[in-house]
Amino acid sequence: MISLYCRTHHVGEGALCAACADLLAYAQARLDACPFAGHKTTCARCLVHCYKPAMREQIREVMRYAGPRMLLHHPVLAVLHLLDGLRS
Ligand SMILES: [Zn+2]
Repeated sequence: MISLYCRTHHVGEGALCAACADLLAYAQARLDACPFAGHKTTCARCLVHCYKPAMREQIREVMRYAGPRMLLHHPVLAVLHLLDGLRS
């Protein structure tokens, strides 16, 4: 999703820009530290908001853009994510 966003808003095709690479590394670190591990719902529905505010705002912007586009680019992942969101 970060790639989709960065491609349109920042560098075009290819690698992520520095800011998006930082955001991706941060998101992966938060996921690795997630206390709910494999049983988690989607981050948007989580009771624990573990992102620091600046990163949270960035990832929300990415999700707002890339979320609807995921249905076109990665339909299976998009449906699995929607199903994850049904979990409490
Ligand atoms: Zn970028």
